[in-house]
Amino acid sequence: MQIQSDVSLLPFNTFGLDVHCRALVTLDSLADLPQLPALVRQYPLVLPLGGGSNMLFCEPFDGLVLLNRLKGIKVTQDEQSYLLEVGAGEGWTELVDWTLAQGMGGLENLSLIPGTVGAAPIQNIGAYGLELKDRCQYVDYLDLQSGECHRLAADACQFGYRDSIFKGQLQGKVLITAVGLRLNKKWTPVLDYAPLSQLTYDGVTPRQVSELVKKVRRAKLPDPSQLGNAGSFYKNPTITKTSFEALKKVYADLPGYEVSPGQIKVPAAWFIDRAGWKGKRLGDAGVHEHQALVLVNHGRARAVDIVELARQIRDDVENKFGVCLSPEIRVIGASGEIPL
Ligand SMILES: Cc1cc2nc3c(=O)[nH]c(=O)nc-3n(C[C@H](O)[C@H](O)[C@H](O)COP(=O)(O)OP(=O)(O)OC[C@H]3O[C@@H](n4cnc5c(N)ncnc54)[C@H](O)[C@@H]3O)c2cc1C
Repeated sequence: MQIQSDVSLLPFNTFGLDVHCRALVTLDSLADLPQLPALVRQYPLVLPLGGGSNMLFCEPFDGLVLLNRLKGIKVTQDEQSYLLEVGAGEGWTELVDWTLAQGMGGLENLSLIPGTVGAAPIQNIGAYGLELKDRCQYVDYLDLQSGECHRLAADACQFGYRDSIFKGQLQGKVLITAVGLRLNKKWTPVLDYAPLSQLTYDGVTPRQVSELVKKVRRAKLPDPSQLGNAGSFYKNPTITKTSFEALKKVYADLPGYEVSPGQIKVPAAWFIDRAGWKGKRLGDAGVHEHQALVLVNHGRARAVDIVELARQIRDDVENKFGVCLSPEIRVIGASGEIPL
């Protein structure tokens, strides 16, 4: 295990920002883990990093980045299910494709989500009507202080919309080392979400669902290797039914659906678009021309440009509609995560 000093994070974040960290270590073997508590005492600021596809590095990070590259997929089975234990450094997209190639359905709605398996539980990744929590059995992690390994059953992970215990109580304290997934042998497609509802339940295959998800995503979302971005920048906010009805009187086309009694989830993209930000630029930082929820780096944007654009959008949406947008991506400053 080799520690490198003053490393550029350019190859390790999908926004394409050339921000440095004080030190970086690549973890590619479980044998590296017992050394971590001593390292954490040496570098009290540590940040686990997967594919950097949900990060905005705002300023040089004054700590140690733990680049997670722990690989391996173990498969066992019982009568009903395939049970997968997947190394946290495996690529998520590659895992989904691998399961489909093995004839295992269940993850197809989550095709083409960038990043690593170990980061998937952090914000409970989700797309097209499915979330990680629907397939997760457990999460294995290392306590970075004590060096102890723990297994947390899925129902103890406090999974919610883009949320989990790893963004709360355990934030900054653990390194996820593996994720356990349960895939039913008797596959049931999830086709409720609009673009997938054109498929029929009868005779459809996991691969067909995956192909459609990929087609829709490729048409809708910019490829980070072509145009720097970190996917959806903001979460979809939840507002009260009273606020929703008041907004509906002025903006009849505002979409929304009830997530709990009196609470309505509304699309952040609708507000950003309606406030006139789609396609706008602030230097090389911009709002994607087809997807208002995605902020992009047109080439030479600096982190401060993206932050400034993100703040202006948030403030403008709040002033115009009284709706507060909070970031889905993690904003990382010199000492760790900071508010936008
Ligand atoms: C084009 C695009 C489309 C996207 N679409 C979706 C989507 O449809 N749905 C969705 O939910 N997300 C989406 N995302 C966001 C992103 O892909 C996910 O959040 C993904 O899980 C991030 O994985 P990562 O390995 O890149 O994590 P990183 O960005 O490296 O890290 C994210 C957070 O997890 C922590 N972390 C990472 N690995 C570990 C670990 N092993 N142990 C402990 N903490 C860790 C980091 O410290 C950080 O706080 C999209 C992103 C892009 C660029």
